[in-house]
Amino acid sequence: MNDLLIMTPGPTEIAESVRKAMAQPITNPDLDPEFFDFYAEMVSKLQNILHTENDVIVMSGEGILGLESACASLIEPGDRVLVINNGIFGKGFADFVRLYGGEVELVDFPDDRPVDADKLENLLKEDSDYKFSTLVHCETPTGILNPVEEITEVLNRYDILSVVDSVSAVGGVPVDVDSWGVDILLGGSQKCFSAPPGTTFMSISEAAWEMINNRETEVHGYYLNLIPWQNWYQKKSFPYTQAISDIYAFDQALDNWLGDEDVLLRHEKNGRAVRNTLQRAGLELFARAGFSDTVTAFKKPAGVDYDELNQIMADKYNVMIASSVGKYAKDILRIGHMGENCYEEKIYRTLKALDKTLRELGVELEDELQLIFAEETV
Ligand SMILES: *Cc1c(COP(=O)(O)O)cnc(C)c1O
Repeated sequence: MNDLLIMTPGPTEIAESVRKAMAQPITNPDLDPEFFDFYAEMVSKLQNILHTENDVIVMSGEGILGLESACASLIEPGDRVLVINNGIFGKGFADFVRLYGGEVELVDFPDDRPVDADKLENLLKEDSDYKFSTLVHCETPTGILNPVEEITEVLNRYDILSVVDSVSAVGGVPVDVDSWGVDILLGGSQKCFSAPPGTTFMSISEAAWEMINNRETEVHGYYLNLIPWQNWYQKKSFPYTQAISDIYAFDQALDNWLGDEDVLLRHEKNGRAVRNTLQRAGLELFARAGFSDTVTAFKKPAGVDYDELNQIMADKYNVMIASSVGKYAKDILRIGHMGENCYEEKIYRTLKALDKTLRELGVELEDELQLIFAEETV
C-alpha cells in the first residue's frame, strides 16, 4: 500500500513538505496570539490565490462542511433558492437547501456539457425572485467545468447572490472571485491544493454577510453557523478550537502553490494531453464540451468491471484511479490530474498502468496510452 499512487480526483497525493508540516509541534490555538497572526497570514495567501478582498475563513472539516455551512447560514424557512444543476454535486445542493427549510427551484441542464448562461438568463427573465443561487464550478463526477464568470454575470444582473462550489477546481484552474462577483466561493484542502482532507475554506462577500446578519430566525446549527466567524481577529477568538495540525499542513500547501509559477499552466497542458491521449487511443470522453483540466472522465470500455480493474492496477502497478459516483458509478472512469497529481511522470505511470490493465481485460487500444501521452507532452 505504501507507494500506491493515488490518481483520484481528491484526495490527491501530498507533498512531503506538507506531510512534515503536520508533524510540527503545536501551540494552543485559542490562547497563543501568534496563532491568530499565523491564521491571518494564511487568509491573506488565500485572498491572493482567489483574487479577492472579501473575508476568507478556513474551517475544520471536509469540503462538505463548507457547502452545508453556506446553506445553513443563508437560508431561512421559505426562502427561494435557485439550484443550477448539470451534475451530481449541482443537484446535491438541493438536499442542503431543503434541509434548512429553503424552497428549491431546480434548473436542469444537460450533464454532458457546461451550463448555458444564455439559457439561464432566459429563465430569469420569467422569474428572478431568488435569495441566492448555487452552482458547481467543476462537476467532479463527470469532469465538466462550468463557466462561473458567465453565470455570475447573469446572476448579478438579476441581484441574485451566488454560492459556488469550486472544491475540485480552485487551485487547478483560474479563479477570480472579485472580478467575477462571486458571493461565496467554496474550496477544500484535499483537491488541487494537495493537503490532507480536513479543512475547507470560503470567501464571503459583504452582500452575503449582510444577508446572513439580517436573518430573522436563528441559524440551525452551531458548527455550521458563519456568524461567529466575523471579526475573529479583532476578538482574538474562533468559534471553536482550530485543527492546528491540519491548518499547518494546508498553509504549507498554499506556500507550495504560491511558489509554483507554472501551476495553472501545467494543469492546462496536462489536462489537454490526457484528453487527447485517451481519445487517440480510441476511448471516449464523457463530456461533449467544457472539460476541466483537473479531472478527466471517460466512458468505461464495455465489459470492464471497475473493481477488477482497480485490483489489477493496485496489485500489479501500485496505481489507483477512480470510478464515478451515483448514476455514473458504473459507466465512468476518472483520472484526477490535479495538484500534486498533475506531473507528467505521475500521469505517464498512471496511463501505462491503465494501458496494461485494459489490455489484460481484453480491451483493444489504438496505441499504448503512455506513448501517446509522451507525444502529446513534448
Ligand atoms: C470533493 C468535492 C466536495 C467535497 O466532498 P467529498 O465528496 O466529501 O470529498 C464537494 N464538491 C465537489 C465538487 C467536490 O469535488
